Amino acid sequence: MSVSAHIRFVLVGTQHPGNIGAAARALKTMGLARLVLVAPEKPLDEVAFRRSAGAEDVLGDAPVFATLAEAVADCRLVLGCTARSRRVQLEELLPEAGGQRAVAKAAEPAEVAFVFGRERTGLTNDELQLCHAAVHIPSDPEFSSLNLAAAVQVLAYEVRMAALEREQAAPVTAAPVHDDEMPASHVQVEGLFGQLGDTLDQIDFHKGRAPESAMRKLRRLFMKAQLSEHEVRLLRGILSDAQRMARLANEGRN
Ligand code: SAH
Repeated sequence: MSVSAHIRFVLVGTQHPGNIGAAARALKTMGLARLVLVAPEKPLDEVAFRRSAGAEDVLGDAPVFATLAEAVADCRLVLGCTARSRRVQLEELLPEAGGQRAVAKAAEPAEVAFVFGRERTGLTNDELQLCHAAVHIPSDPEFSSLNLAAAVQVLAYEVRMAALEREQAAPVTAAPVHDDEMPASHVQVEGLFGQLGDTLDQIDFHKGRAPESAMRKLRRLFMKAQLSEHEVRLLRGILSDAQRMARLANEGRN
């Protein structure tokens, strides 16, 4: 299976069905076929199919999810495309680096997603929090927002370039990933965050401060680390012990 088969393009809350059609066309020209929709504002219509201009297969096959978390649940790399630079405290990649990182991850093999926001408002901060890094096309800061399908085209092109480069450089299949290095899935990392949040409460880490700020920073730290399944298990083991100790300490006090 080619690396492209592991890379999906997720459009969140799209307002104009025509843009979804144009995005399908953009993908197909670059040999990509995995379009995923999250809660589009309107159903696909005639304009969408017209703008897909022959990529009806890509458009028709696109699954629809209610939330971004569900659409990327099995992904091990999620890259959020943002029109505004440095709005979020995420590592920010140029499109070329985004394409290369996606292809390298997909070759492991692992599932990868590029995420695109709404025409009017882009991605919410909560949605960006689900991403490992942001990708910004370095457009004119005075006029930074590309049309949604145009942004999809730029990233699809970079994915294709990275995939072609990889094919030429390494015609033999990559060495299989050792079990210990299997990157953790989105669901596994979210499970870790859930337990981390509980543990911090139980050990009274916040001491009356709002927990959100610390959790945001810890999330960023762990997202940057791109944890493996093994590392998630190790961290969760430590947290379980901390939770057990907190329980014992509380019992002693009562
Ligand atoms: N007004 C919105 C722009 C949305 S454009 C905002 O300020 O966020 C729709 C989507 O296209 C964006 O959410 C993003 O995913 C993508 N996009 C547009 N311009 C981009 C750019 N310069 N770099 C990366 N992605 C871009």
